[in-house]
Amino acid sequence: MGYNEQERAFIEWYPRGYGVGFKVKRRLFETQTEYQRLEIYETEGFGKLLVLDGTVQLVEIGEESYHEVLVHPVMLAHPNPKRVLVIGGGDGGTLREVLRHDTVEKAIMVEIDEGVVEASYLYLDVAKDLLDRLIKKEEPRAELIIGDGVKYLRETGERFDVIIVDSTDPVGPAKLLFSEEFYRDAYEKLNDEGLYITQAGSVYLFTNELLDAYKAMKKVFDRVYYFSFPVIGYASPWSFLIGVKGDVDFTRIDLERAKKLDLYYYDPERHETLFQMPRYVRKLLEGQ
Ligand code: SAM
Repeated sequence: MGYNEQERAFIEWYPRGYGVGFKVKRRLFETQTEYQRLEIYETEGFGKLLVLDGTVQLVEIGEESYHEVLVHPVMLAHPNPKRVLVIGGGDGGTLREVLRHDTVEKAIMVEIDEGVVEASYLYLDVAKDLLDRLIKKEEPRAELIIGDGVKYLRETGERFDVIIVDSTDPVGPAKLLFSEEFYRDAYEKLNDEGLYITQAGSVYLFTNELLDAYKAMKKVFDRVYYFSFPVIGYASPWSFLIGVKGDVDFTRIDLERAKKLDLYYYDPERHETLFQMPRYVRKLLEGQ
């Protein structure tokens, strides 16, 4: 079946002309927010697609391949994560996964762009009910703050057990979320035993950004780990960096708590296999 011009392969072109493609049926929404161009498409077989400044953020079918690995390894490695901060994550998927942990007493999500929250609530089936409760301030264990995560973390008096950065890539408003100064603020706002995780971009296509972030985190955190994971919608294995404060052992997780989660992509019983990274990238990281 041919596609008319409205229907087109949605190709996210990376610098090297390599990218991920979704066949789209039609565009459902587009706007220019204060921070970025926001588009939502209906795809052929992957549900709806959220795009920011031309970059795929998520597809409804498969978004858990990102949100599970961003959230559960750190939440299960921390002995008792009660207070959690999410920076970015305006679609609600990350906070949805955080609130699956009974230990959580208070989660705060700081998203700079209200337009992302509104569009995600109106068009996406990722965390619609949760976003509705957040907007109405009816979620007992979580709060949505519309603001810059950099400013919030510098100024807040709150302390956290886990900080999760679910941001766009290190350009524009997200750029400073990958800076040594921001990592120092994060370290200070973690409790004595704390974990920090950030998405760190495409392993193959943004290797330099990954190396820069790893080098900066190593100057700040007591220990830094990395792993990569195949994320549906992203053009290559996606990298994640974890900063540790205090004695938390990120190589060990609470399997009893993991059993309650019934996960689909992240495999807690094989947590030790999570620490995958293509050999040349591992050697570059170890050279930092
Ligand atoms: N959760 C999605 C996924 O599956 O990959 C993508 C992440 S989410 C849509 C990225 C969010 O980070 C965007 O909504 C963007 O507005 C937000 N963001 C970027 N810079 C930020 C900052 N400095 N403070 C808070 N939020 C920021």
